[in-house]
Order: sequence, then structure tokens, then C-alpha cells
Amino acid sequence: MARANAAYYANFDFSRDFCTAPELTQVFGELLGAWAKTVWQMMGAPSDVVLAEAGPGRGVLMADALRVWPDANVHFIETSARLRAEQALHVPNAVWHDSLATVPEGPLILLANEFLDALPVRQFVRRDAGWMELWVADGAYVEVPAAVALPDDPVGSFREVNEAALGFCEALAARGAVALIIDYGPGTSAPGSSVQAIEGGKYADPLAAPGQADITAHVDFGAISARVPCQGPVKQNAFLTSLGLFQRTDVLARRHPDKAQALRLAAERLTAPQAMGSLFKCLCLCPKGFAPAPGFE
Ligand code: SAH
Repeated sequence: MARANAAYYANFDFSRDFCTAPELTQVFGELLGAWAKTVWQMMGAPSDVVLAEAGPGRGVLMADALRVWPDANVHFIETSARLRAEQALHVPNAVWHDSLATVPEGPLILLANEFLDALPVRQFVRRDAGWMELWVADGAYVEVPAAVALPDDPVGSFREVNEAALGFCEALAARGAVALIIDYGPGTSAPGSSVQAIEGGKYADPLAAPGQADITAHVDFGAISARVPCQGPVKQNAFLTSLGLFQRTDVLARRHPDKAQALRLAAERLTAPQAMGSLFKCLCLCPKGFAPAPGFE
């Protein structure tokens, strides 16, 4: 799965297959830029702060954020060469990294929208004999006894464990970073199978054509918040509304009547519970005792 997704992001324009918040409205990136700058001030405004983004996609979130915080020192964590080239068009002064490990030490603020869902999960299914892990051989699932301790769910239940996401969050915590993680998934851990593949805007079989489809899984915010100090998770609609999504949308809509309808529809889509408002959660990873970050009061 990890390699299939690397191939997908290396070769395809993900915006062909799904639409993310920064692609919907510039207000999303602007609010996150304001959030990051406020957090920097809460840190005591260290001059050597790094503003990082993990999985920046086309780079538009950061381009919008930089209108609020123009002199931020931007570092991108991105493995796709193709997307790096596109990001460079939007944020020419960024510095690129393959992983968090090479991002300079020191005060760090990190943004990650729809990044953790792209990392591979291990999937387990409960059978009569106990938990089995789903492996893939010759294009089909095979079940092997699980070597991981899992809750005592009913037979037929699924569980997913995203070790890469947990490891990423633990590395951020170890550095004392303040990070804003936004993604879709439950606020508390629950059984279920959420691995999905999207190809050409439609659901596809995850095993059918590795590297052709975007394979994702829900982010288990319960598992992350049990592992690292954090604030939240809060639902995306509460978070964006408290940051002023509708006020900023109104200002822009009045200034640009030709874009007013698209801006208002985007704000609606980001906050409506049946769209992205409720399934999407926002989590702030931060050192214990850090004052409540904007949107997490
Ligand atoms: N944040 C963007 C894009 C989300 S798509 C947006 O909201 O529009 C996921 C992004 O994560 C892509 O940029 C993809 O190339 C990147 N990515 C996926 N797996 C990665 C990995 N293991 N390391 C670094 N970047 C990765």
C-alpha cells in the first residue's frame, strides 16, 4: 500500500480524484496562516521558527497562509517529485524534505491537511479463532494470525492501525512541535474498515491497479490523542467557524462579487455536517501545558 500510494502521488494529479479544503477556498489557507502566526506569538515569537507543512499537495494552502505570514521560513515534507515542482510554482522559497527527520531543529509549527490519511494502515479482521491480519499476495487478501494486541471486538469486526501516522505524531511530540493535523476520521477509536481507493473521482477496488488510485484510510484521532499530548480533536466546522471562516468569506465575497457564490458554497461545504464539517477533525499536537491554541479554547 505504501509503495502503491507513492506511485500514485508521483504520477497523478490528486485533484483529478478528490477536492481538498485548500483547493476549495483560499480562506482555508489564510485561516491556517493566521493560526500558525498566533501560535508563534504564543511560543514567544522565536526568530528561528520553522513553518512546516507535511504533504502540501499543490502548495496552495501554504501560498494562502503566506499572505497572512509573509516572512515565514517554510519547509515542506513531500516525497513526490512531481508535486514538489508544482509546489515550487506557488511557494518558490520553500525548502523540501523527504521526511520530518531533516527539518531543522528548533521551534517548529507544522500544518498537515489530509496527510495522515495517505499513510498506509495495517488492517485486521476478527475471526472465530482470533484476530487475523490482512496481507496481500498475488493481488488478493490473505489472512495471517495477528501479532498485535487488539480489543475484544465481535467476530467479523475490522480494526486498523496506522503506525506511520502514530510514529509521525510521536516524532513531532518528541521535538516539542506545535502541529495542526486536519483529516477525516473518528474522534474516538472504533472498529471498522475504512481503507478506500478513489480513481477518476470514483470508488475503486484498492487491489485492482496499484499506483493508479489514491488509497486512503480514516485517521484514528483517538489512537493519536492517547499517544501524544494534544488539544482536541474538535470537528472542522467548530474549528473553522471559531477562526472566522464566515467573516473572512463575507469580506472576500463583497470585494469579488464574481466569486461570491463559489466562496460561500466552499465555506458551506467545509462546515456542513453532511459534507466535511463533522467527519473532518482538527487536532493540535503541542507540549503539555501549552495555552489553548486558537480554535481549541
Ligand atoms: N495537503 C494537500 C494534499 C493532500 S494529498 C491538500 O490538502 O490539498 C497528500 C499529500 O501527501 C500529497 O502531497 C502527497 O504527495 C503527500 N504524501 C503522501 N505520502 C507521503 C509520505 N510518505 N511522505 C511525504 N509526503 C507524502
